[in-house]
Amino acid sequence: MQTNMLINGELVAGDGAALPVIDPATGAEIAQVAEASPEQVEAAVRACESAFEAFWSSTPADRAALLLEIADCLEAHQDELAALESLDVGKPWPSARDDEMPLTIDTFRFFAGAARTMSGSAAGEYVAGHTSMIRRDPVGPVAAIAPWNYPLMMASWKLAAPIAAGCSVVLKPSELTPLSTLRAAELLNDILPKGVLNVIHGPGLTVGDQLINSPAVEAISITGSPATGMAAMRAASQQIRHVHLELGGKAPVIVFDDADIDAVAETIRFGSFFNAGQDCAQPCRVLAQDGIYDRLVAAIADQVGQIRVGAQRAEGTEMGPLVSAAQRDRVAGFVDRANCEIVTGGAAIDGPGFFYQPTVLANVDNDAEAATSEIFGPVVTVSRFSDAEEALRIANTGRYGLASSVWTANVGRAMQMTSRLRYGFTWVNTHGVATPEMPWAAMKGSGTGCDMSVHALDAYTSIRHVMVAHG
Ligand code: NAD
Repeated sequence: MQTNMLINGELVAGDGAALPVIDPATGAEIAQVAEASPEQVEAAVRACESAFEAFWSSTPADRAALLLEIADCLEAHQDELAALESLDVGKPWPSARDDEMPLTIDTFRFFAGAARTMSGSAAGEYVAGHTSMIRRDPVGPVAAIAPWNYPLMMASWKLAAPIAAGCSVVLKPSELTPLSTLRAAELLNDILPKGVLNVIHGPGLTVGDQLINSPAVEAISITGSPATGMAAMRAASQQIRHVHLELGGKAPVIVFDDADIDAVAETIRFGSFFNAGQDCAQPCRVLAQDGIYDRLVAAIADQVGQIRVGAQRAEGTEMGPLVSAAQRDRVAGFVDRANCEIVTGGAAIDGPGFFYQPTVLANVDNDAEAATSEIFGPVVTVSRFSDAEEALRIANTGRYGLASSVWTANVGRAMQMTSRLRYGFTWVNTHGVATPEMPWAAMKGSGTGCDMSVHALDAYTSIRHVMVAHG
């Protein structure tokens, strides 16, 4: 198993403490991965800085070729990478292999094309005797930090866009789930110029903190919790750095009386409990219009009651364990504190591993903790609303602004709702469908800017004005 970090083109063991990597389905140790020492973090940043000096001037075509080669390489190793991901995070094998790997690989293919769309927007004489142009140039060395819920997919979002833009990167995966990223680093090291990608290992509060506070990084890119986003903003404020944040979510699922109830219930089963609910866009906060409330709760309970919970490779497993004992206990705390009806689930599952029952909470007050805080586990709440204005008010109150969905047969109402929801993305009569062409966009407390789509390049580029006097 590849447990080395990648610094300046070399695979090196961490000089710091060895951290255990745990199989969440059994609690058993899979491997130990040594964290980076402060000197190694520094070396990774220096390598990134010096690689930028050459890489920024590579042509878009060169970078596109690298990104296509990366996609082909990941595709050739997708079984191995998905196996690591499944083991490390507790994902059902079919999800890791067939749901996540295609999007991870396609992200690199999309950004290969996106690299070649980068252009300035004006060229002309705006002052007599002078020609101006607007350039879009790579921002500089990037500190990128990824979470544990989709380690390799989030690494692909953190790498493909900056490489397309001409930036070099130091990436820190989550200390809980480093295995797929470390193996991918070994593979990508045969493709990328030395120092363009560096991968270091270790806890956020030490290794991550040193990375985002390094004077050599010009941009900080985080996918993680709001607390980590705040740490990044504090770090950036000390040196005036670009910050790109993709943080937590609490997606409302607004279901009107004329919606297809069966479609909503199936989407909850397959969307809300995917990855054991550890998903920033999880459809977790169902708002049901009064007329269909009882029917919807019954349909969701029926679907969720059928979910097969089990280990990664067990036959028929739809939902695996939570990533850690701490995450399972955190989820249990939210459910235990919720003062509402537990329709199904509501408890941890005995035995080794960090399993929790698929849970549906009903009659949840719209301002209750369970309805407004990100639980990040296999828990869905159902609350009531009476009309569109009330649904908008409930959904738009609160700190998050990532994913949302509206369910109705009325096209006009759908358009009106989508225009007024203050969320980075809104689906109509579906939830959770992603494609690299479209932005994974954040508003409010969910972050700044977006991953994926050509707009992701904004976080990794700077706009510049060049003016030439005619002499
Ligand atoms: P987390 O914030 O605890 O950790 C994320 C990463 O940040 C890890 O690599 C961690 O080591 C690092 N980190 C933690 N504190 C740090 C600090 N002070 N300085 C530097 N780095 C630090 O988040 P998590 O528990 O791994 O992931 C779950 C969160 O991620 C949820 O809130 C979820 O919604 C969010 N998420 C958002 C998106 C999105 O696209 N918006 C996608 C996936 C996950």
